[in-house]
Amino acid sequence: MNQPYIGRFAPSPSGPLHAGSLVAAMASYLDARWHDGTWLIRIEDIDEGRSVPGAAEGMLQLLAALGMAHDGEVVWQSRRKHLYEAAAARIAQDTYPCGCNRREIADSRIGVAPDGSAIYPGTCRHGLGPGRTMRSLRVRVPAAGDDEITFIDRFAGPVTQHLARDAGDFVLKRADGFWAYQLAVVVDDIEQGVTDIVRGADLLDSTPRQIHLQRLLHAPTPRYLHVPVVRNSNGEKLSKQTGALAVTAGDAPAAIAVLTETAGFLGLVLEPAAPDSIDAFWRAAIPAWGRLLAQHGALR
Ligand code: GLU
Repeated sequence: MNQPYIGRFAPSPSGPLHAGSLVAAMASYLDARWHDGTWLIRIEDIDEGRSVPGAAEGMLQLLAALGMAHDGEVVWQSRRKHLYEAAAARIAQDTYPCGCNRREIADSRIGVAPDGSAIYPGTCRHGLGPGRTMRSLRVRVPAAGDDEITFIDRFAGPVTQHLARDAGDFVLKRADGFWAYQLAVVVDDIEQGVTDIVRGADLLDSTPRQIHLQRLLHAPTPRYLHVPVVRNSNGEKLSKQTGALAVTAGDAPAAIAVLTETAGFLGLVLEPAAPDSIDAFWRAAIPAWGRLLAQHGALR
């Protein structure tokens, strides 16, 4: 690879790291290590109403206890609001204040975006109506016909979304005053020089909106790999629960058990199948990740 690889894990500290986030953490870590790249951690605590005190610290301790050492300083979104403000100002000509509340948008019945939110009917696109005050800040998406965004996901292959039809003008700054995830994640990935985003498939639907923002900000689009959540070899689905919460630094058997279980949900085939130390786990898991990519024909 000519370009240096910069990956990241970006958890929201709305509770302890659950099994699904651990799968995303492991996949992003393995992909970075497989490419001899950099692996950053960013705490996405921009939604301060949902952030649970101590959750981020707990996540960092857990990742360290599992042997997932990050590069560079941990970045906290709650301390980077000036960057989101500046980015929103740069694309001001593509944004507008919106005075609609949730109920009015839901009542318009335009449709529901893949993430479950109601698609915005564009009521305030050409200015706030008389007597209306700004609640949120929205970004305009291109008109239907011109709104197709396609990207190649390294696992899922080509993914296409029509922004006008499938998402609508979306929120950059929320009615509660917090910057929205879609803006913060794009600004941070650009500012941190992230080249490769590896995360859970639940965010596949958000990617076209993020690419739209990257284009408005004249930034390159990173490579994406959305990890499907698989069943383990017992056919069990990933649950929110995990033994990971019980792992403390120095408890190697517990760490190995959690790592091996998480690897199973990613579909990694470890050789040897039962590593006897945390280091041995990672020595087995990195080439297993390479084999998994090859087997899926994933772009390397
Ligand atoms: N903070 C998001 C989450 O925990 C992930 C963001 C991302 O990886 O782009 O779901």
